[in-house]
Amino acid sequence: MERLQKAIAQSGFCSRRKAEEYIIQGKVKVNGKVVDILGSKVKPNDTITINGQALVREDKVYYVMNKPKGCVCTSKDEHNRKTVLDYIHIDQRVYPVGRLDYDTSGVLLLTNDGDFTNKMIHPRYHLPKTYIVNLQGILSEDDIRKLRKGLSDGKETFLPAKVYMLETDPTRDRCRFELTITEGKNHQVKNMMAMLGHEVRRLHRKRFGFIEADTLKPGEIRQLKPYEVKKLL
Ligand code: URA
Repeated sequence: MERLQKAIAQSGFCSRRKAEEYIIQGKVKVNGKVVDILGSKVKPNDTITINGQALVREDKVYYVMNKPKGCVCTSKDEHNRKTVLDYIHIDQRVYPVGRLDYDTSGVLLLTNDGDFTNKMIHPRYHLPKTYIVNLQGILSEDDIRKLRKGLSDGKETFLPAKVYMLETDPTRDRCRFELTITEGKNHQVKNMMAMLGHEVRRLHRKRFGFIEADTLKPGEIRQLKPYEVKKLL
């Protein structure tokens, strides 16, 4: 038995908060009867409908993809660009956990578990995400100090990050380093670099929590092992 709002969120239909709204508004039926009390319990084989639409309560699945650059993380793109879902041929409908930009590659989790997704992207979890950044420009000692302390321009702030320099190329005015951040704001790495006056040439996510995708070819996925899912939560 689990709470109705949790069962709805876990189906990937919507967030738990939205599910609570639907329940209070009397839009949810369990086995044909309206249930408008939050916290009501449902069994795994109960039929849940929202506005008449039946939820598909399938088993939860968790994957990691080595996202190639040149695809978006939304399920449909208004410019008809390739999406990460074009690379996936499995029975369940899965969704990306958070987003990587069109031109960013690397570790991307995919699941049909809405609750898991919400936890992974909730700022409270501060899950470390490590990126390999190829930069136009060279990070100065002062830049590195600022990144480690936390950046702010008065409008936007970023929590302290870890920086590990990999290489600098003064002749081409470029460098490459690992950056570990614990937030997941939109275009965060690019915006952090822009705040320091630098431009990201190439971005690759090497690690999400402790999950890596180095053994996967671009576009390939593998199922996470149960212990990996548990350890992320
Ligand atoms: N930061 C960015 O700027 N882009 C990404 O895709 C991920 C993190």
